[in-house]
Amino acid sequence: MSDLKNEAQVNCNISIEDKYRFIFNKISDLVILCEANYTISESNKSADIIFGQGESLIGHKCHWVLHQKEDPCIDCPLRDTLKSGLIIPLVKYEERFGEYFEERTHPVLDGDGNLQSFIISSKNITKSRELEEKSAQAKKMLALGQISSGVAHDFNNVLTVVLGRVQLLKRQTTDEYLLNSLKMIEKSALDGASKVRKIQEFSRPSEGALTETIDLKKIIEEVVEITRPKWETTSKLKGTLIEPILELEENIFVLGDSSDIRNAFTNIIFNAVDAMPEGGVLYIKTETENQNVSIKFKDTGIGMTPETVEKVFDPFFSTKGVLGTGLGMSEVYGIIKRHNGRISIQSEAGKGTTILVHLPKVAAAKTGALAIEIGKTAPTRILVIDDEEHILEIFKDLLSELGHEVDTNSSSVAALDLYKKKRHDIVITDLGMPIMTGVEIAEKIKEISRETQIIMVSGWALSIDEKSLSKYIDFVINKPFSIEKIIYTISEAAAVIQKQKTG
Ligand code: ADP
Ligand code: MG
Repeated sequence: MSDLKNEAQVNCNISIEDKYRFIFNKISDLVILCEANYTISESNKSADIIFGQGESLIGHKCHWVLHQKEDPCIDCPLRDTLKSGLIIPLVKYEERFGEYFEERTHPVLDGDGNLQSFIISSKNITKSRELEEKSAQAKKMLALGQISSGVAHDFNNVLTVVLGRVQLLKRQTTDEYLLNSLKMIEKSALDGASKVRKIQEFSRPSEGALTETIDLKKIIEEVVEITRPKWETTSKLKGTLIEPILELEENIFVLGDSSDIRNAFTNIIFNAVDAMPEGGVLYIKTETENQNVSIKFKDTGIGMTPETVEKVFDPFFSTKGVLGTGLGMSEVYGIIKRHNGRISIQSEAGKGTTILVHLPKVAAAKTGALAIEIGKTAPTRILVIDDEEHILEIFKDLLSELGHEVDTNSSSVAALDLYKKKRHDIVITDLGMPIMTGVEIAEKIKEISRETQIIMVSGWALSIDEKSLSKYIDFVINKPFSIEKIIYTISEAAAVIQKQKTG
């Protein structure tokens, strides 16, 4: 600022021409003045630096300097502007610099309205274009997220009822034919539920408690092993070879949900293998950068066009026809975002693809994760509240099998009375129920005892970060849930109770 002031003061005593030249040269946009025959008669410093590599542009033709054309440009906006009086900005990609410029041409007319000269101003808009693209992409992702979470919620409820009814019917018949049909319906509904889970994954908000300390090297090696049938066996059958090359740093840890991370990496590897029908190399490399770790998945496959790159994370976008679901990368996107990470793609058609995942790393010892041994939780008294009987049955069977003392109730009012008598350690409650919602029940229970751990089960992809929930709810399980998720959450809740007891 003070430099500017000094310069301005120094320039107080100079001629008007020098003053305007000073201003002309200070403008960061490129400004060029041309004769009617396209010869440059003036150019400012920015124009000389960018297009003349520091040399003056005077005497050269504008079409040569700006666009390396021997003749005036066919799309020179000058003629249109002279006709319409409108100055239309022209956006051009400059291959020489790999940058975008927005050019405006302003005609200067003599007293008779004839073209005397013209001024070209040009601005480097690469950065603002990138920002615009990023913000448009973010808006699109948000809108897609909202749509998919609504659709997923409605489908979950439909599927929960279908599954519930099928399971009840299965208990009521011994007829072979009927049983088989019911099993087929059940399987299809379960397939549907797994698809819905993938859609939900895309928009699921951060679930707050990412409690597992994940050894990145170990989990990547595991995933490469899990996916071996895909990259080794399948390619062998086709007579091609896919070779994974791993370059993994030791002792890098991230905080999260290991089954989610495994799922995300599996999707990325599956896509890389799909992209190498003729075989190729899949490099997986980890690198730490300050507080983050980057995981690079680089394949030598068919690559993607810029249009595909733009749509990769959209749910249902696939270029694989009937072989694809288009739900892999949208799921990956959701998982990485929930782990407070970033994901980006570098790809060119015919030249392979690099998927770059960045995750925040943690020190192994500092995670504060509760020591949980899945399935080895001390017996606990659990109350399950849900207005759907079949969901209560699933919980009752599973939790009793794990050795817990389980009460179930489909009426929120009766369940609350039961709780007052027995003071269970853990209460699992559905969110949407008649008379009292899960949140209202949770509030009443927490008023009686803050120690009781409350697990909310919901068809909405909820997060305990949501303010209204975090006051009364300790854990969230989203529908359709996996048995592992229930066991894990019960173990977490039991660990909290144990900690309260031991001080
Ligand atoms: P699907 O695999 O079912 O098509 P995804 O969501 O996993 O769905 O991927 C979406 C699309 O992104 C793919 O159809 C493919 O066009 C593109 N894609 C993803 N990963 C790669 C890759 N490594 N190489 C080339 N194209 C890819
Ligand atoms: Mg895929």
